[in-house]
Amino acid sequence: MRSSLPSSPSDHPAVATSLRSLCGISARVPDTGSALNRKGTMQLSLFPLEPRLSKSKYVSGLQCHKRLYLEIYTPELATEHDEETQARLDAGTDVGEVARRRFPGGVLVDYDHGNLTVALRRTEELASNPSIPAIFEATLKFENVLVRVDILERLADDRWRLIEVKASTRTKDVHLDDLAIQTHVAMGAGVRLEGIALLHLNRAYVYEGGEVNLDRLFVQQDLTVAVLARLAEVPQRLLSMKAMLMEPTAPDVDPGHHCHTPYVCPFWDHCTQEKDPRWVFYLPGPKRTFDRLAEQGVHTIDTIPGGFKLSDTQQRMKDNVEWIGPDLRAALQAVRYPVHHLDFEGFMPAVPLFPGTRPYQTLPFQWSNHTEHEDGIVRHEEYLCANAGDPREELALALLRSVGRQGSICVYSGYEWRILMDLADALPRLKRELSAVAARLWDLLPIVRRHYYHPGFEGSFSIKVILPALAPSLDYSNLEIADGGLASLEYYRMAFGKTDAAEKTRIRASLLEYCKRDTLALLEIRKILLQKTFEPRDQNLTPV
Ligand code: SF4
Repeated sequence: MRSSLPSSPSDHPAVATSLRSLCGISARVPDTGSALNRKGTMQLSLFPLEPRLSKSKYVSGLQCHKRLYLEIYTPELATEHDEETQARLDAGTDVGEVARRRFPGGVLVDYDHGNLTVALRRTEELASNPSIPAIFEATLKFENVLVRVDILERLADDRWRLIEVKASTRTKDVHLDDLAIQTHVAMGAGVRLEGIALLHLNRAYVYEGGEVNLDRLFVQQDLTVAVLARLAEVPQRLLSMKAMLMEPTAPDVDPGHHCHTPYVCPFWDHCTQEKDPRWVFYLPGPKRTFDRLAEQGVHTIDTIPGGFKLSDTQQRMKDNVEWIGPDLRAALQAVRYPVHHLDFEGFMPAVPLFPGTRPYQTLPFQWSNHTEHEDGIVRHEEYLCANAGDPREELALALLRSVGRQGSICVYSGYEWRILMDLADALPRLKRELSAVAARLWDLLPIVRRHYYHPGFEGSFSIKVILPALAPSLDYSNLEIADGGLASLEYYRMAFGKTDAAEKTRIRASLLEYCKRDTLALLEIRKILLQKTFEPRDQNLTPV
């Protein structure tokens, strides 16, 4: 690469400045000496000299030095990705592949992990061929940091634009760090950069059918100035990470909110395994509460000093007893019969599949409705789209038939309201009926939040948490699909994936079972809570 892409500074003044600073920094890279100096001969294989970093390792190191250390030396301590996380990562890869179509004639650098040299050489070959307009996954290395640039776009005069593709719909702060390390390596490797950009999805794009309009699907945001402003920090940060990695043990970092930002750290279970189950981190509410308690040396919820100001929910979690608010019965009795219990499942394709939809628009594919009549009779109805078409109209018509025009519609959170409003917008001829259904929604979540607490909630009001506390026999642990993320993933696999008929049948049954459990849970929670308001009680506090 160096021979074809001279390392002389670009004409871009900021790039030139950064290159000068890079030259200074490269002279300051420490002589790390031999591993024998640190731990003796046995350490030579356990702690190789200066482990190679990458852009993801750099971003990990920015989040937490301990995370980087564990990723390098003991990756087996990480919790494996669940299917949902893996699906999100796969979606990012898919978006990256679609993005490449914006650069016809671009060539992908194949890289199997054993063959870095080949990938580096291939990148250099492609760069020296002026007929190649773009290099995908351009592989570059500088000072033992390896990056694979999503798209290196050739501009005039042997200059390049470095482009990172993200499946997000906006630029986030972490993207600037991601681009800064790539820029550092690219410039160090001699690439003459003219611009640095992020290509992300455009949430305002409405797919009109036919070929996806790639120019409208993506937004290319020029971040040259913002990234270069961050570039000066990179060498020092790398030095600090590399020095940390030469230590014989991982740094002592207390887990806290930084473990979830910008990404959920896979070592969370490992780092918190010895924390008390009543660790103050588990208090619901703003993170400053945890920070203030940690500053005061308070580790468990039970030792929070009496005068410390807590919200109502936090106080109930501290009290750790069942609490029934005086207005719970009245709130629950505000429903009108027949009471429907409704739950939607939806999926959010990154690249729109159906005309009139946008990237990441939630598309409902399933609902379940348990209807309780005043005489106690319960009827169940459900819908699950059976093909790969746009499910919305068929789903809406079936729903209108099921909920009729009477009774409250019990839901848990504002999700169903948003789905109904979206359906009303998308289906003008059903707008009036769907809006009328939305007006009948009766949300159980704020009622539970305001009027009831059980120690089994552990500060959460998620239906997946409160159901086992109130009706243990109904929890989700015996279901193949036990959360909405997995339901969406499995639906996508059933409707659009290469799954055989038997697998489709299995997924379909699991989806129906899951959604049905959600609405049965709603019904049971409503009934159990109401029953509690009639139970004789000496007082409103029941110790666990
Ligand atoms: S869980 Fe937190 S403290 Fe532990 S390695 Fe990850 S980010 Fe660092």
